[in-house]
Amino acid sequence: MSLYEAFKTGGVKLSKNNFTMIKEPLLLTNVTEDLVKLQVREYIEKLGACDCETCYLNACALALNDLEPKYVTTKEGALFSELTATEVNNQTHILVAVTKAVEQVIEFPHH
Ligand SMILES: [Zn+2]
Repeated sequence: MSLYEAFKTGGVKLSKNNFTMIKEPLLLTNVTEDLVKLQVREYIEKLGACDCETCYLNACALALNDLEPKYVTTKEGALFSELTATEVNNQTHILVAVTKAVEQVIEFPHH
């Protein structure tokens, strides 16, 4: 069993003599990336951009390169419930980057 699999199934072997079960495995997640992905979907529809996977991913990449990543550890399935006030405030910043990115994809589509 790989470390990743062990982590996914909830058990991580820490050493030869110490087997520790983790009941709720933590995930490392970039909150900015999660928010950007959601916002890009929304803005592609709002701005009438092409919704193919290429345009979607290009817009995500453009927006994310303009933003600071924000990593948190979170329990599986609880990605958005643990957002702090700071992260919510940063959404304006995210919106600007997402709008810019989607407009750029509309102007220069790579599909
Ligand atoms: Zn497209």
